[in-house]
Amino acid sequence: MLPCPCQSHLVYAACCEPLHRGFRLPENAEQLMRSRYAAYVLQHIDYIVDTTVPSQQILLDKAAIAAWSRDTEWLGLTVHTHTPHIKPHHAQVAFTAHFAEKGVAQQHHELSAFVKRGERWYFIDPTVPLPSMKSPCICGATRKFKACCGQFLK
Ligand SMILES: [Zn+2]
Ligand SMILES: [Zn+2]
Repeated sequence: MLPCPCQSHLVYAACCEPLHRGFRLPENAEQLMRSRYAAYVLQHIDYIVDTTVPSQQILLDKAAIAAWSRDTEWLGLTVHTHTPHIKPHHAQVAFTAHFAEKGVAQQHHELSAFVKRGERWYFIDPTVPLPSMKSPCICGATRKFKACCGQFLK
């Protein structure tokens, strides 16, 4: 039985696999974050794309994500904090991803923001071009970007 790469100490089939296969939705932002890490490890690039805010999906460089996923040696994940409702439809997860590139161990610390639309949580990607603060929000809410998801992308 494959241990889940998200380091939940569960087997993959009982953890992130049903999420990756679309049988289940992540229940919260931490589960989504962990399943996205596991998707990088297992090179489920479509899952990375599908779990990003829909309006940002077209901005993602799938080939680059696939290359990064494949060429990186994934060494583990530490979730530090999960704030499930920093706002009614927003959550934050602080984590460290451990990996090695060309044999050199590295750490990536991030405070990621997530937004819930309907029943689904989505990752907000801070690395793709973002709208101006006065534009309608990327998540599809009627509020301006700065009053919605923009406040979490500093
Ligand atoms: Zn998992
Ligand atoms: Zn928003």
